[in-house]
Amino acid sequence: MKRALQDLAILGGERAFDAPVVFGRPNIGSRKAFYDRMDKVFDSRWLTNGGEMCAEFERRVAQTAGTEYSVATCNATAALQLALRACDVTGEVIMPSFTFAATAHALSWIGLTPVLCDVDPDDGSVLLSEIEALISPATTAILGVHIWGRPSRLDELSRLARRHGLRLIFDAAHAFGCGWDGRPIGGFGDAEVFSFHATKFINSFEGGALVTSDPEIARKAVEMRNFGIAGSDDVVSVGTNAKLSEAAAAMGLTSLDDMDYFVRRNRENYRRYRAELSGTPGLRLLEIDEREPNNYQYVVLDVDSDITGLGRDDLMAVLAAENVYPRRYFYPGCHRMAPYRSDRPFAGTDRIAGRVMVLPTGESITAGDIAKTCALIRFAAERGSEITRRLPEAA
Ligand SMILES: *Cc1c(COP(=O)(O)O)cnc(C)c1O
Repeated sequence: MKRALQDLAILGGERAFDAPVVFGRPNIGSRKAFYDRMDKVFDSRWLTNGGEMCAEFERRVAQTAGTEYSVATCNATAALQLALRACDVTGEVIMPSFTFAATAHALSWIGLTPVLCDVDPDDGSVLLSEIEALISPATTAILGVHIWGRPSRLDELSRLARRHGLRLIFDAAHAFGCGWDGRPIGGFGDAEVFSFHATKFINSFEGGALVTSDPEIARKAVEMRNFGIAGSDDVVSVGTNAKLSEAAAAMGLTSLDDMDYFVRRNRENYRRYRAELSGTPGLRLLEIDEREPNNYQYVVLDVDSDITGLGRDDLMAVLAAENVYPRRYFYPGCHRMAPYRSDRPFAGTDRIAGRVMVLPTGESITAGDIAKTCALIRFAAERGSEITRRLPEAA
């Protein structure tokens, strides 16, 4: 317990945690189930190219997403590219500035031009009025992002895309197991893409999936995923290699086995954080709409330095000294990254990217870890101005 300022590790005190408490520690699931699946994989000597594990993984992903088709891939970045190509997207694509670099990279890497759109500083969702203003004759698609698994205004976005004859694809990297308006994420727009990277809620080490209910998009994606080969050796289109290996699919299945448990743990963690941090001036935990299913993977804390006297980054430095590592998801926004730098103002993105941090959660964090982490955050926030004054001496 910290009683005085000098008890903070950053000011010379003892650190609160011996082992790091970090955002993005993977959920593992049952090792036994994974090893059993791997025995099957080895026995079959079928290691990749659409084996049984991959097929079963795709079935289960489609089931959760409520879509006809699911095309598993080696990662979400590749799946985004398959989706864009399968939808014949060309020229300019409008996407939010407040997202991971991968969203913009997926476009640029295949010669498309990302046109960045500012977001609502309160929840990070894309500003519909801005999208409309950014549409040019070269625009052929909107690439939406369900930031932190919090889909927003999907009906209006769909109408807007339809009105302008644009394709609508979603980077749903955060949103597996989430829902909106009574429907699972997966079935919105022309196609949606999940990530099963190790830091995501469900993981296959590395992995992703394109989901859609459009048979033509699914067919093209399957073909392009495997070098543009149709049937056994007939190359009919320009393809790539975006296949998911059987080992990765086995991990994905094992992760899916425990999905309900991961949600339950994440939900408990979220509620615990909310209870522990509510009432501290200047701290606001972004609410998750519990009327819709959610994976609760992104517990987002907004720090108002005007009230706490301690900026988000300084608070993170205080926590890092204690061995606690939240993440700045996403900082600084694509409009401030070298390849995508823009002269236009992005007030919403700058504001939210400068204030929020995503807190450690997942199956491996304990109630005690959360209580202790929140005590540290409260302690620092309540003495923010004083800490800010003394930080220079810490450096
Ligand atoms: C993780 C992530 C990606 C990339 O996913 P990979 O599977 O690592 O390629 C894309 N977009 C967002 C918003 C992400 O968080």
